[in-house]
Amino acid sequence: MSEKEASIPVAIVGAGPVGLAAGLELQRFGVPFRIFEEDTALSNKPKAGTILPRSLEIFAGEGVIDGVLREGLRFDEVHFIDRPSDKVLTRMLMSPMADETRYPFIVNLPQSDLEAQLAAGLTRQGHEVAFGHKLVSVTQDAAGCHLVLESPQGTVKVEAQFVLACDGGRSLIRHQLGIEMEGVTHPERFLVADFEVDLDRRTGRQLTYLSYIFDPEEWVIFVRQPRFWRFLIPVAEGAPEPTQDEVVEKVRRVVKNASLPINFLDMGIYHVHHRAANKWQDGRIFLLGDAAHLITPVGGLGMNTGIQDAHNVAWKIAWVLKYGATEALLTSYEQERAPIARLNARNQAERNREIMRMKSPIKRMVRNAILGWMDRAEGLQWQAAHARSLLGTSYKPAPKPPSLWSQLRTARHFQRPAVGIGERVPDGELLGSDGQSCYLHDLLHRGFVALILIDPRTRVSIDPDPPGLTQYLLHRFDAAFDTGLRDRALLDKGGRMTRKLGVPSHYFILLRPDGHVAAISPFQAASSAVDAYRQYIGHNAPRANANRAAL
Ligand SMILES: Cc1cc2nc3c(=O)[nH]c(=O)nc-3n(C[C@H](O)[C@H](O)[C@H](O)COP(=O)(O)OP(=O)(O)OC[C@H]3O[C@@H](n4cnc5c(N)ncnc54)[C@H](O)[C@@H]3O)c2cc1C
Repeated sequence: MSEKEASIPVAIVGAGPVGLAAGLELQRFGVPFRIFEEDTALSNKPKAGTILPRSLEIFAGEGVIDGVLREGLRFDEVHFIDRPSDKVLTRMLMSPMADETRYPFIVNLPQSDLEAQLAAGLTRQGHEVAFGHKLVSVTQDAAGCHLVLESPQGTVKVEAQFVLACDGGRSLIRHQLGIEMEGVTHPERFLVADFEVDLDRRTGRQLTYLSYIFDPEEWVIFVRQPRFWRFLIPVAEGAPEPTQDEVVEKVRRVVKNASLPINFLDMGIYHVHHRAANKWQDGRIFLLGDAAHLITPVGGLGMNTGIQDAHNVAWKIAWVLKYGATEALLTSYEQERAPIARLNARNQAERNREIMRMKSPIKRMVRNAILGWMDRAEGLQWQAAHARSLLGTSYKPAPKPPSLWSQLRTARHFQRPAVGIGERVPDGELLGSDGQSCYLHDLLHRGFVALILIDPRTRVSIDPDPPGLTQYLLHRFDAAFDTGLRDRALLDKGGRMTRKLGVPSHYFILLRPDGHVAAISPFQAASSAVDAYRQYIGHNAPRANANRAAL
């Protein structure tokens, strides 16, 4: 039997966390889409379990944060422990992010529970994943993309203007497009096992909810999940897969309690890759998540990076479909996200893996001394938390971590740097023109935002908002009703947000719907922010009073 579906703007292939997040993002901007998943239900494999603050901000924008916080385990302290000496070498705190975000903490939640929350967010808006739909081929031409799927009802043909390939590490779409994954597969594998066990009271030390235990022979990661403990260890090349009993004994040895009662729940063993696709966009098809990058799972970055991919590409597609943005905007997806995935994989995941298993005693001594020093330097704590939380993700042309010199210079006497183009804007509380408290990031739910840093008493003239942009005046002086600016006034209590932004007065800052800075410029004419917006999204953008393009 063959069935032809009506053409849809966006087809998402794969209902893993990244495909579901991509659906939520498109839903946020009112773009019709379908998600096709080959399995008959969401996955329940023991995989990701750590959600970083930037992903929490994204989930807030997608309307699913309440469920994630309700089901998850929240904590703000990660421990790095030297197994031979049993010493905590350093604690990474998320609390330095308290002035940056409403979510200065990590949430542990099994990937399967997170996926259930994301799917529920879609269902609340009337979207259902098309389970049992396996993509078997995708082609594209000038008219769009043509997908063929196998379903229990027979072959289904779908036409879509854009395809988001969220079909995981073995991506069929990537193979069909002939895109290579560059990088390496490590010889060791990782074993993940879940247990019911009391590690809070029945061991010599109280473990925090995420502990990296360094050991040249066998490193260990303990991740507390809301209802059980997760344990990760390497399995050496060629070594047989440990049995359940052997894994239980390993846990007892690590926590030095030979009679610890343990109830084994589940276990999985995974190959470990450090790879990225050499191309993330082919015409109207985009690779996201594990289809585009495979990141060593030491550091909880694979899924978190994929969630940011969805957050980056979805609004761009929405602006092309709805607001006349040129397709050139879409090419920025790969330009922005590919370097970030490589940076996260190399500087966080791979580095973590290396330092956990360091063999040379001299290198270990230097490592331990540096980590011990980090623990005491406020500036380094801020920079480490900013990077680790992924709140520091920046789409500057060549994203680089801060140099060692700049880290050392600001280690003790730290001041937040001014925001720059490409960076994520910090969140913060403001007072809206209706007198209600509001958060800067919430204003971005509707689209681009221009914050004009001008005292409303100057009665500055501002052009009307074009579709997709809202302009505000941000100042610690409120706008009186007879200035004509009251509706645009955001009260910056005590000038706190202005100080955080570090942008001079009489400038405007243009923010994209994903919270990254598109432009910072002097506000020289009534049209300054509108011109910058139109230039950013391309030249086809409709004027203020044009109707929204029908989808
Ligand atoms: C042990 C372990 C621990 C991890 N811990 C973390 C962590 O703490 N934090 C973190 O951020 N990341 C972690 N990760 C990584 C994380 O699990 C992955 O990055 C994440 O699953 C990627 O999501 P995805 O949606 O891109 O792909 P997937 O989760 O692989 O989903 C792809 C989906 O596409 C479907 N699909 C595939 N082919 C087709 C087709 N032809 N037609 C239709 N559907 C198809 C699949 O059935 C699947 O449902 C961990 C990974 C492992 C192995």
